[in-house]
Amino acid sequence: MTNPPELRPAAPAPGPLRSPAARRWLVGGRVQGVGYRPFVYRLAHRLGVAGWVRNLTGRVEIVAQAPAHVLASFAKALCDEAPPLAGPVVLEGGPVTARPATGFSIRDSLASGPAAVHVPPDYFTCDQCLGEMLAPGNRRYRYPFINCTQCGPRYTLIDRLPYDRPHTAMAGFPLCPECAREYHDPLDRRFHAQPLACPACGPQALFSDAAGRSLTGEAALQGCLEALRAGRIVALKGTGGYHLICDGTDEAAVARLRRRKRRPHQPLALMVPWTGPDGLAWARRIATLGPEEAGLLRGPMRPIVLCPARPAAPAAPGVAPGLAEVGLMLPYSPLHHLLLHELDAPVVATSGNISGEPVLTDNAEAAVRLAGVADAFLHHDRPVRRPADDPVYRVIAGRPRPLRLGRGVAPLELELPAPVSRPTLAVGAQMKSTVALAWDDRVVISPHIGDLGSVRAETVFEQVIADLQRLYGVKAAHLVCDAHTGYRSARWARSRGLPLTRVGHHAAHASALAGEHRPPGQALMFTWDGTGLGDDGTLWGGEALLGRPGQWRRVGSWRPFRLPGAERAIRQPWRTALALCWEAGLDAFDGHCPDERLRHLWRRGVNCPVTTAVGRLFDGAAALCGLVHESTHEGQGPMRLEAVCGPHGGAAPAPPLYRDESGVWRSDWAPLLAPLMDRAVPLARRAADFHAGLAAALVQQALAVRREQPLSHVGLTGGVFQNRVLTGLAAAQLERHGFQVMLPREVPGNDAGISYGQVLEAAARTCDERP
Ligand SMILES: [Zn+2]
Ligand SMILES: [Zn+2]
Repeated sequence: MTNPPELRPAAPAPGPLRSPAARRWLVGGRVQGVGYRPFVYRLAHRLGVAGWVRNLTGRVEIVAQAPAHVLASFAKALCDEAPPLAGPVVLEGGPVTARPATGFSIRDSLASGPAAVHVPPDYFTCDQCLGEMLAPGNRRYRYPFINCTQCGPRYTLIDRLPYDRPHTAMAGFPLCPECAREYHDPLDRRFHAQPLACPACGPQALFSDAAGRSLTGEAALQGCLEALRAGRIVALKGTGGYHLICDGTDEAAVARLRRRKRRPHQPLALMVPWTGPDGLAWARRIATLGPEEAGLLRGPMRPIVLCPARPAAPAAPGVAPGLAEVGLMLPYSPLHHLLLHELDAPVVATSGNISGEPVLTDNAEAAVRLAGVADAFLHHDRPVRRPADDPVYRVIAGRPRPLRLGRGVAPLELELPAPVSRPTLAVGAQMKSTVALAWDDRVVISPHIGDLGSVRAETVFEQVIADLQRLYGVKAAHLVCDAHTGYRSARWARSRGLPLTRVGHHAAHASALAGEHRPPGQALMFTWDGTGLGDDGTLWGGEALLGRPGQWRRVGSWRPFRLPGAERAIRQPWRTALALCWEAGLDAFDGHCPDERLRHLWRRGVNCPVTTAVGRLFDGAAALCGLVHESTHEGQGPMRLEAVCGPHGGAAPAPPLYRDESGVWRSDWAPLLAPLMDRAVPLARRAADFHAGLAAALVQQALAVRREQPLSHVGLTGGVFQNRVLTGLAAAQLERHGFQVMLPREVPGNDAGISYGQVLEAAARTCDERP
């Protein structure tokens, strides 16, 4: 291992300084697990500065002594030249008494309170490590677990803080002499790289298949490649758990994966080889990348990015059937780089789990539970301490929006608008579960856990809760859950015996967005989603809430309708379509026989909960167009309807707006139905007009509210606004009317953001309760 020459001391170690000045800094921000202290050390050596640096649980304390002009350059470089992953923020800085000093040292860490602890996420392989891995002759040539202070696993590896090797899953891998030398050399770029490894002392890949073959090292990689080329499905252990992968150009392999995973239609993500000068050459063969998509794909999170698919892309049509977009991601770990580099083709990379559960992480458990899905396994022997699924992003209204938090992002650490009075744990919703832990003025959001309701999901849910509290050294004294008593998360919270606050689903959505944007005064939040329990006991999901966290009031909604069969209507959108027709006085819809028994139950309101959810309106619309009658995954109807959109027929007339007896503005969806069924109009136009109609209704509601009170800020949140046609139209029209439009930026607008919103909503209420 050699260092770039500028990192070597330019002169012999500095002697006592003649007329030194001395300063002390306390540096916060992202300075843990990113090589910041070694960077300070090397900087001091380069500039001839004396003193020391040490960890102060999560922060870094620096005392430096040098002639004043040298100290000035040192101070500037502390932020300007920090390593790429670091995000230093100088919290304090001031002169201290100069003392005779020689050299610069890294002192032992000092433990202190939990306030400043940062848990780093998992990082993608850096360019330098990639270069070494592909350089014949390097001692880590083709080693799939190469890493350094600037890359490699973190969150999924850490047992406890402070972040030192014995406190990680690497404790079981004693360093060989060469790695030990790198680890202890402050001038080496692997100085204190905790997951440091090499072929002699680090983790190894392990391949096994149904034929009973068992291979390690390079042979394991070759075994995996052979299986992929033969159209097999491989369960591949990555950074935060298993993927199921297969050749993304092999239609038969993709179909087999779908069949075995029982996912007939849900879009699958593709991991594409890193090729060309910017790494995106392969990605561009499959999708059209705008600057936002390109930036996201290459960005430090290495997320799955939904990108517009090219018509004749070299990928199996079964990857994202019926959709206009495809989820792409670049390799993020050295193992993925090696495999994709040799394969020179995209692979389908879907979470290694049983539908909706958290991704599997344990070798033995994966071998058992994925046995019916995978033909072969590429394991490795580095334990994954906790799952982290891939994050997902989509460019909506011109900016990247998170749809799922995960590896590379989580735990997502944010600052609260105001400190919470006691440590608070918010347990989120039921689907797309995440949890959030808040203390002082900080909040940390967990990665995507999955849909609660299975044993494994609930085990991981509890593990994540315990983990976050242990890692950050914070014990929750107050819990927050959804108002829906049937949610598993809410049931868990009730069983704890701690003070508990229940928060309405849509209030949590609204507060999450308000927490990100902090609008002055009151804001109008459109919270449109699939259904959540409302204050009046009906299923909300098309609501406009006016106010601020802790004080939301419903002012806008839709004409209510009934869901025949309740939960079953979600899986069978034809039920919703029928109910909408009956409600509007239309007899039935084309393509489906009227069901007299169902109509009878609907008339009497038996098992027909009342809803205002726009997600369900979308379901009904997709069925009325003949696109999706039975849904095999969440959001299938809405996604298909969006995908078929062409240009809409100009300014859509807004659906009728009326005021109900409680003063809530309601839009009537009824006039939107008949045009959906008009087969004389092309499907692309009908779908687009439906979107335009919803956007017009939204704008009309905002204007109606503004006529009665001052209103500048309008937010769009909830799963429905993952639809970029609708969101783009609504945002543009609101802006034309002079509104400031707020959309999710760092926290997903779908139910993954509920835990964060629960924290803000509960905190605001507590403040108000105090005298
Ligand atoms: Zn690296
Ligand atoms: Zn080694």
